[in-house]
Amino acid sequence: MNDSSVFPQAETIEQLRQNLATVRARIDQACVQAGRDPQEVRLLPVSKTHPADYLRLAYAAGCRMLGENKVQEAYQKWQELEDLKDLEWSVIGHLQTNKAKYVARFANEFHALDSLRLAQALDQRLIIEDRYLNVLVQINTSGEESKYGIDPEQAPELITQLGQFSRLRVRGLMTLAMNSENDQAVRGCFIQLRELRDSLQAIAPQGMQLTELSMGMSGDFELAIAEGATIVRIGQAIFGARAQPDSYYWPQ
Ligand SMILES: *Cc1c(COP(=O)(O)O)cnc(C)c1O
Repeated sequence: MNDSSVFPQAETIEQLRQNLATVRARIDQACVQAGRDPQEVRLLPVSKTHPADYLRLAYAAGCRMLGENKVQEAYQKWQELEDLKDLEWSVIGHLQTNKAKYVARFANEFHALDSLRLAQALDQRLIIEDRYLNVLVQINTSGEESKYGIDPEQAPELITQLGQFSRLRVRGLMTLAMNSENDQAVRGCFIQLRELRDSLQAIAPQGMQLTELSMGMSGDFELAIAEGATIVRIGQAIFGARAQPDSYYWPQ
């Protein structure tokens, strides 16, 4: 969705505060409807395309963690906002192995782990930086070629192997649902992720708790919460419609 009438631009701290509160209230409401405790669901504001100066307003409105799709964009903003010591960064988009060093340097969380090679590269870089990283394995639940993530059948092997990396804290799974008007199809992606998580927990290495399900965005987060989301990644409903089409982030 890129309709600026659906997602008006938030330009002031007050508007950002308002949008954060509105989205939070919708999350809480979706939890109540699903018989869940609202505290189980974390709102991750997604700030891609918005410049660092603007993100200072988001910080002033209360954001202490921001999600970014592209690591270089995120890294640059982290540098520009380094004075905001308690602002944490979550990288949520596909990462090339040769850019693992950037994530290792500043990110608190990474949602798009999709290969053993990338896990190795991150772990090595984290040792150098003397840091730890919370990671989620991205699963392609929509079957769409354009979406990143591993096929569900590949997940057991990857999860089993992730136990060997001392610097990666494997927390759960992430997915992007099908982009569809059909709620049942979208919901099917979320159900698939939850069921996969449940079956992986049974074979996960000792001590690995796959508690997190990162699923749901501005257009579909209520459905995701109904199916068990613990992190919803929301950009446009907080900051306003993006000029950049989504195909820039997950090529069609
Ligand atoms: C941009 C993005 C989101 C947020 O999408 P909105 O439509 O702005 O809510 C969620 N997840 C990923 C991976 C993204 O790149």
